[in-house]
Amino acid sequence: MTPRPPLAATPAWRAVMHTAGHRCQCTGQCGDPHTRGGGRCDREHDGHSHRRGGGTVRLLAAPADPAQLGLPAHRAAALPAGELAAWCPTCHDHTRKTAARAAEAADTSADALF
Ligand SMILES: [Zn+2]
Ligand SMILES: [Zn+2]
Repeated sequence: MTPRPPLAATPAWRAVMHTAGHRCQCTGQCGDPHTRGGGRCDREHDGHSHRRGGGTVRLLAAPADPAQLGLPAHRAAALPAGELAAWCPTCHDHTRKTAARAAEAADTSADALF
């Protein structure tokens, strides 16, 4: 099951995609150095995945700061376009998980609840 994109095709989404050239702006935040793309993910919106049967790539507009990728959609939507970046679903997912793990490791205070 695919998670809903944080932002649909809103004016902010279009502005972000225009700036990004409709290409994923991940430069390794997801943990993949993207060497094939010259240090930047080479997935483009409406492009096809490199693997056969991978389907069409649909880029997401989401916070550029990995620490903010976990924001609820309505808060992410309130961010100015300048703080958003284009992410392909793979990079978005991996970056968000990496950031969530880092935040969890940094926040040990939750243990006090148990
Ligand atoms: Zn990507
Ligand atoms: Zn990436």
